[in-house]
Amino acid sequence: GKRAFIAGVADDNGYGWAIAKSLAAAGAEILVGTWVPALNIFETSLRRGKFDESRVLPDGSLMEITKIYPLDAIYDKLEDVPEDVKSNKRYSGSSKWTVQECAESVKQDFGSIDILVHSLANGPEVSKPLLETSRNGYLAALSASSGSSLSLTYIASERIIPGYGGGMSSAKAALESDTRVLAFEAGRKHRIRVNAISAGPLRSRAAKAIGF
Ligand code: NAD
Repeated sequence: GKRAFIAGVADDNGYGWAIAKSLAAAGAEILVGTWVPALNIFETSLRRGKFDESRVLPDGSLMEITKIYPLDAIYDKLEDVPEDVKSNKRYSGSSKWTVQECAESVKQDFGSIDILVHSLANGPEVSKPLLETSRNGYLAALSASSGSSLSLTYIASERIIPGYGGGMSSAKAALESDTRVLAFEAGRKHRIRVNAISAGPLRSRAAKAIGF
């Protein structure tokens, strides 16, 4: 069977959860990366059976998540993390959640993965039009929302979707461009496929701020 790592699962409402389920139904082993501030509530809800109904796979069994890794995708390595974040109560309770450390942990635990899904986004100013978006809000959107391997993009990268603000349209345009370039580079160098799915509107936690 294949082993998949899905980054960006913190409840059972979003694309990450749905993709995890499809992959589990197809026989894949599931690892997830959960945003550090959301880790506690996700693990607790999972343990208390809050997601049991949505864990049911087509064959009647429940999706098993082999391991949940804390992750904050805006930091590559520990040196990049500002002091106030390091000492923040929600972060100091977990460790090894930068991208590099998380990848190392997965490697240590499992050796390798076959499928990487990037299903995360964060546009702190998504409800503001681009015209009113601050530099910080814009850069934050790009930093958290444009990663790859199999990632989730949105049509707002190529057409105007009012309400999809805060630089999120720019983040998705960057993501699609990065997908093309990385498909070329990683394809040649490592024979790794890099794709993005342009998904339709879904009322996930992330999308509620947009008003979908
Ligand atoms: P979601 O809320 O289920 O997923 C977003 C996840 O990103 C959350 O679990 C959140 O905790 C996590 N996250 C935020 N910042 C993070 C960080 N710095 N590090 C790690 N994790 C972080 O919402 P969703 O709508 O399913 O989003 C998944 C992907 O699908 C996103 O890339 C989104 O842009 C894309 N997408 C969504 C829609 C839609 O309408 N919902 C449409 C097209 C594309």
